[in-house]
Amino acid sequence: MQSASVHRFETRAVHGGHTKPIAEGAMVSPIFQSTTYAQNSIGDSIQHTYSRASNPTVARLEEAIASLDQRQHAICFATGMSASTALFFALLQSGDELICSDVVYGGTTRLIEEVLQPLGIEVRFIDTSDATALRRSISKRTKLVFVESPANPTLKIADIGALAEVTKRAGTLLAVDNTFLTPCLQNCRELGADIALYSTTKYFDGHNVTVGGALTLDDAQLAKKLRRLLKTMGLNQKPFEAWLTLQGIQTLPLRIHQQSRTALELASWLEGLPAIAHVFYPGLPSHFQFSLASKQQEAGGGIIAFELKSGFAGARSLVSSVQLITLAENLGATQSIVTHPASMTHADLNPHDGARIGITPGLIRLSVGLESFDDLKADLAFCLLNLSDSISATGEVTL
Ligand code: PLP
Repeated sequence: MQSASVHRFETRAVHGGHTKPIAEGAMVSPIFQSTTYAQNSIGDSIQHTYSRASNPTVARLEEAIASLDQRQHAICFATGMSASTALFFALLQSGDELICSDVVYGGTTRLIEEVLQPLGIEVRFIDTSDATALRRSISKRTKLVFVESPANPTLKIADIGALAEVTKRAGTLLAVDNTFLTPCLQNCRELGADIALYSTTKYFDGHNVTVGGALTLDDAQLAKKLRRLLKTMGLNQKPFEAWLTLQGIQTLPLRIHQQSRTALELASWLEGLPAIAHVFYPGLPSHFQFSLASKQQEAGGGIIAFELKSGFAGARSLVSSVQLITLAENLGATQSIVTHPASMTHADLNPHDGARIGITPGLIRLSVGLESFDDLKADLAFCLLNLSDSISATGEVTL
């Protein structure tokens, strides 16, 4: 048998975390739903002591994610937000500087503005689609550059290789939130990033049943610090969630490739509709970073954003008239989900700041599921064709 490290991604997705032999001949790793672990004597050095610090099922998930991302270490957390909390607390202290992409998940901005900045950590939000902007902004006090690519929700991307050159030269660390693509479609280690962050809630789980997060990295000392923070701050993933995520991972490559194919078909079709001002999808030749996306991503991914000519009125009409697609906050699941970022995931942004970075009242984010293209198209067509009929000469909806 080949060693695990030479197996292809699809094989690692199926077998990672289910290392044989498993007790009783089971095909699937069991759930270790145990708070604590018996010790034989004082000072007994057992692997797991208490499930806030570590748990065998969570450890299986960590093995699986480390193997998919080809990293020495994966550390799982209760949520994607607890993964970013641990990362920021491990690397930043008062007086240090964090450089962050201007477009990131709204919860990340909230964490930075409501927790980090009041602690005296300085933050610069910059346009990370431009590596020269990073070159200009980085300083000796910059302890971390945190980038989301593609960004939630505008799908702007960053040239990870170019940013990594800048951070390496400056002697600082580059972390990439790779939630939208997963290691299946974007290998952050090969591109030069030091750390990848995942909300496993999204594609790793893939079925809308858990919340979770993970960090992957090669630096053993930083991994140790992160694990200590996880235990100290109680940021741990739970065994049942970890077990469900392990089942989800087995079909991750199949799901995300199919979701990308359907997303590309939908994005191409949406682009031609009169109700739509602009479609943002890195797999479309019209995306302003199409050639970069083709170089650093294996596919466009399963998320599309589009701007309606009729603004907020059109967005409200669309999200309330879809039948098959659900209006909700999650993404990356088997069922398609539509989100209105300005009032949902990014509602805490001041509308002026939101509009400046493209999170406008008419922007819709679509997470493409595993339904047939024809059915998704029919669901959207019904809403969008009605919308275009009702747009007045001024571009306002007259429903
Ligand atoms: N990163 C991205 C890109 C996200 O979209 C989200 C949540 O939507 C998070 C991080 C936070 O993850 P969680 O909701 O699992 O805490």
